[in-house]
Amino acid sequence: MTLTNPADGSVLGVVEETSPAEVFEHTTAARDTYRSGVWSGLPPRERAAALLRLATLMERDAQLLATLDSEDAGKPITECITGDVPSAIESIRWFAEALDKRYGRTSTTGRDVLAFTEREPYGVTAAILPWNYPLAMAAWKIGPALAVGNALILKPADASPRSAQHVSALATEAGIPDGILRVLPGTGPVTGAALAADLHVGALSFTGSTATGRNILTAAAQSNLKRVSLELGGKSPQILLDDALDFGDTLLDGMIEAAFLTAGQNCTAGSRILVHERIHDQVVASFTAAAEALQVGHPADPKTKIGPVINDIAADRILATITQATADGATIAAGGREIPVVAGGRYIAPTVLTDVRAGAAITRTEVFGPVVTVQRFRTHEEAITLANDVDYGLAASVWTRRLDDALVLARGIEAGLVSVGSYSEGDLTVPFGGWKQSGYGGAEKSLRAFDQWSREKTIWIQQHP
Ligand code: NAD
Repeated sequence: MTLTNPADGSVLGVVEETSPAEVFEHTTAARDTYRSGVWSGLPPRERAAALLRLATLMERDAQLLATLDSEDAGKPITECITGDVPSAIESIRWFAEALDKRYGRTSTTGRDVLAFTEREPYGVTAAILPWNYPLAMAAWKIGPALAVGNALILKPADASPRSAQHVSALATEAGIPDGILRVLPGTGPVTGAALAADLHVGALSFTGSTATGRNILTAAAQSNLKRVSLELGGKSPQILLDDALDFGDTLLDGMIEAAFLTAGQNCTAGSRILVHERIHDQVVASFTAAAEALQVGHPADPKTKIGPVINDIAADRILATITQATADGATIAAGGREIPVVAGGRYIAPTVLTDVRAGAAITRTEVFGPVVTVQRFRTHEEAITLANDVDYGLAASVWTRRLDDALVLARGIEAGLVSVGSYSEGDLTVPFGGWKQSGYGGAEKSLRAFDQWSREKTIWIQQHP
């Protein structure tokens, strides 16, 4: 597979695709490594120490890791340096520090029985990753999967394997036994599909599109019923109640980040702005001006806020979606066009669509690009109805200082995460995951993440006189 930089189409290198036969060899070897106990048999503190060393090595190579993600995925380098890389390091550290703070349960049985549960690793586990947060998503999987003692096979996205490959080398340097973390590059239909259907993989964690999630579930059902965890797409609302302007610049900054981080190619992108009619015009004016002021540029330029979209297919799809939205009655308040920033890259201006009809295709389809719609509402009920009128349920933000109203909205929204007074996924202490066709909810981050990578065993010991 030839890797190209989305910024300018230059060739970054060639990576060999892992064939289905090679996937099987790797999962067989991973099973043997796991069973040898070389990792799972270590005292938890030793596994923690190795993962902490890995985090320190990632810190040492932070600049390189940021560059790899920026080049592979076309993400602005500043975003990688200040966001993706530190958050990935923090994830590895957090799960390392948490791994020996978990307890099983003892049940209340008769005096002649000792019955307890403990959580054990699955053995061979796998993760299939999207391209938009290559390192950060890898860390969300590596941290808890390795912490509990599994062997992990990671399939990075076709376009962005290099940061995961580097982390795999760092894992060896950190003293994590060879073969415990394997990174297998390849395309979805070949390498990914082989992993999803593999008979050795006991648990598979997938982050990517809803369509691929369906294929993976089918493959799991038709193979060994592996435990599948799904983190999928989204169409998240940003809801502004009539006091939202009280937040001043914080509101505008939060809205811009929600809409346009990673050029809107973000699962939790706040791609639908729902605004109270009283402040609608003012919000549209200031948001449109802020969107137009964003610097669209080469991702290697530290001042760039909006980089290219990932490839031609994505660019053509995004432009077609905008055309369809205008045909359905929407007005382009900002952007709406491709801009020639760097030859060989596809750059789309931050786009704001107003006069968007409830139920129009653009309000329900994940665009996965720098495109936001604005719709107005009058009552809380109307806002909740609009917010929930999608198949997705990943995240939402609510902007109000009135706690009573915030609670009504937060409780009414069908999503795995609602942030109030900010656009935020929270820190590592809170679970993350979508509802509805965004996934199974709350399986990433926090101590809950360990459940995805371990299974419960009951041990019943009968005492004999
Ligand atoms: P994608 O579904 O096209 O690809 C994701 C991964 O699945 C890639 O590694 C790909 O090679 C692999 N794949 C594709 N077909 C496969 C198959 N048949 N069997 C097994 N694996 C297969 O998604 P993408 O374009 O890389 O990422 C964008 C999507 O990911 C968006 O929908 C976005 O919302 C979602 N996403 C979700 C989260 C989350 O946490 N919920 C985070 C990031 C991205």
